[in-house]
Amino acid sequence: MPTIKKNNTQYTDFELRASYCSKGPLSLNNIIKEDMVAVASILYIKCNLCGKINKVKTSSEHRSGQRGRLTFNINSRAVLGSLQAGIGNTHLNNLFATMNVPTMNNRTFKS
Ligand SMILES: [Zn+2]
Repeated sequence: MPTIKKNNTQYTDFELRASYCSKGPLSLNNIIKEDMVAVASILYIKCNLCGKINKVKTSSEHRSGQRGRLTFNINSRAVLGSLQAGIGNTHLNNLFATMNVPTMNNRTFKS
């Protein structure tokens, strides 16, 4: 996992995206909910120290165009990979369904 240095503390990329707690490590044992957006997930993890619920995204996001909505990088990579492999939205969704991953609608696929 990539690590990033900030204020002389070594964080993993994963820890940096936690929305509240930067002091203590969050444990994957404390996941209370997971929202899946195609291949990306938003994990809701309860902090052992303060009890707050942290929203942790498993992928960074980018905006497509200047005013486009935020899209998970990993989902864009899945689309680019499928196009590279010569398959479109339907076939990618067949793959996702087999993987037990939520499918991607056509609007998301094109963004
Ligand atoms: Zn905390």
